[in-house]
Amino acid sequence: MELLKKTAKEQHKALVEKEVSALELVKASIERIEKLDDTIGAFNSYTFESAIETAKKVDEKILKGESIPPLAGIPLALKDNMNFKGSKTTCSSKILENFISPYDATVTSKLKENLVPILGKTNLDEFAMGSSNENSAFKIVKNPYNLNKVPGGSSGGSAASVSSSEVTLSLGSDTGGSIRLPASFCGIVGFKPTYGRVSRYGLVAFASSLDQIGPFARSIEDAAYLYEAIAGYDEKDSTSLRMEVGDISSNLKTDVKGLKVGVIKELMQEGISDEVKSSVENAIKTYEKMGAIIKEISLPLLKHSIGVYYIVATAEASSNLARFDGVKYGYRAPNCENLLEMYTKTRAQGFGPEVKRRIMLGTYALSSGYYDAYYKKAQQIRRLIANDFNKAFGEVDILVSPTCPTVAFDLNSKANNPLEMYLTDIATISSNLVGAPALSMPCGFDKDNMPIGIQIIAKNLDEKTLLNSAYTLEQELCVYNSRPNI
Ligand code: GLN
Repeated sequence: MELLKKTAKEQHKALVEKEVSALELVKASIERIEKLDDTIGAFNSYTFESAIETAKKVDEKILKGESIPPLAGIPLALKDNMNFKGSKTTCSSKILENFISPYDATVTSKLKENLVPILGKTNLDEFAMGSSNENSAFKIVKNPYNLNKVPGGSSGGSAASVSSSEVTLSLGSDTGGSIRLPASFCGIVGFKPTYGRVSRYGLVAFASSLDQIGPFARSIEDAAYLYEAIAGYDEKDSTSLRMEVGDISSNLKTDVKGLKVGVIKELMQEGISDEVKSSVENAIKTYEKMGAIIKEISLPLLKHSIGVYYIVATAEASSNLARFDGVKYGYRAPNCENLLEMYTKTRAQGFGPEVKRRIMLGTYALSSGYYDAYYKKAQQIRRLIANDFNKAFGEVDILVSPTCPTVAFDLNSKANNPLEMYLTDIATISSNLVGAPALSMPCGFDKDNMPIGIQIIAKNLDEKTLLNSAYTLEQELCVYNSRPNI
C-alpha cells in the first residue's frame, strides 16, 4: 500500500477523509512487516493483536463522527527496552529473553491514550550499548538502503522499521546518540528531547543521567506530533521536568530570518568524510540563503566528550545492571551449588561481551581509590563541556554539525574494534552530557545513494527553535520524500 510510505500527517488525513480505515492501514503494515522482516531484522517480537484492537477503536470513533488525536491509527513500533504490558521486553539480551512486561512504561500509556497502534518491539544493541546494532544477542539489523550496511545503533530496529515503511513511526532511546545516529544512517528524522522532557518510567535504564526517549519519523512535523504525545511531567520519574511542553506541531514556521546558526568548528575538520561535509555545508548555505546568520563556533572540550561519556555511562550502567542477578526476574543459570555461583554464572551466561566490558569499566571507575581519578574527574569535565555549550548559546540560537563523520558503514567492519565503534559518536554524545535537545534529519545522499544526516542542537528546553529551524530546512531541501527501494 503506497499510503504506508507517506507521513503520519498524510495518513491521518486519509483516515479522517475515510479513504482508508485504521484497520486497513494496520493490516497493510502487518503485511509489510511479514514480507520484509526476515530480510531487515528490525523486530524482536510482534504485538499485532493489540494493534488491531486499537485500530478498531479508532475506526469506531471515526464512524461516530468523533474527532481523533493526530496520531490515532498510525502504525508505530517500540524499541525493545520499553515496557508494554503483556509483551516481551528483552533489551536484545539473553538475560531478559523471556521477560514479559508486567506494566506499561509512561510512554506506552501515553501512546495508548492517543490510540496509537503498537505493532511490535524493535531490535537494538544489547541494553542499548552500541552504534551499529551488531551487539544484539538475537540477530543483526540491516540498513534498508543497502543490506550490506549497518542501520546504526543502538536503536537500529526502530530506525530501520520506519525507513523501510514497515511502520510510520517508532520510539528509540538516546544515551549518547542512539536515536540520532541510526536516523542519520537510515535517512529519517530522529529527535532526542531535552533530558527530563519525556518520562523514563518503564524504560530499562542504561545510564540514568543521560537516557532520553524520543521519536523516529519521516518528517519534522511527524516527530513534533509524536514528541507532544509522549512528553510532559510524570510523577513516576523523579527526573521528569515540571514544564509545559507547549504546542509546537501546529505552529511550525518556515522562517529563519535573523536566526543565528553556529557551525561547530571541531566537527567540520579532518576526520569527517568529504561527502558528509559538503552535504552539511550545502544545508548551511541553504540556511544562509534564507536569511539566517552563520557563525563558526568552537567547542574546545568536545574532544573529551567520548572519554567523559565512557566513564559516566559505564559507571551508571554498572550500577543499573546490578539488578540482573537471576533472583527477581530474567534468566537464572541452572544447576548452581550456592548463591554466589548462581549470581556469577547467571551474569556470565546472560550478558554479551559488550555489556560485560561496560560493567567492568564502570565498576572499575567507581571503585574506591579510583573514584576521584575517574568518575569525579569525568563529572567535572562534563560541567566544563556544559559551560562551553552555555557560552555558545549566548552567541547563537542553534548549533549544527554532521550527525556522524561518515555514512552507514559495512556490517562487520567495526564489530571487533570497540574503540573505533565508540568514535562514531563524537558528534552526538555531548548533547547527552549537557542534556540539550538535538535531532538528526536527512540532508542529502552520497554517491552510492546512502543517506547523510545533519545534526541540529538547541539550548535546553528550546525544542521550539530546534523543530522550527529543522522544519524550515526540511521544506527547502525536500530530501525527506526519498525512500529506500525495498
Ligand atoms: N553508541 C553509544 C554507546 O554505545 C550510545 C548508545 C546510546 O545512545 N544508547 O553507548
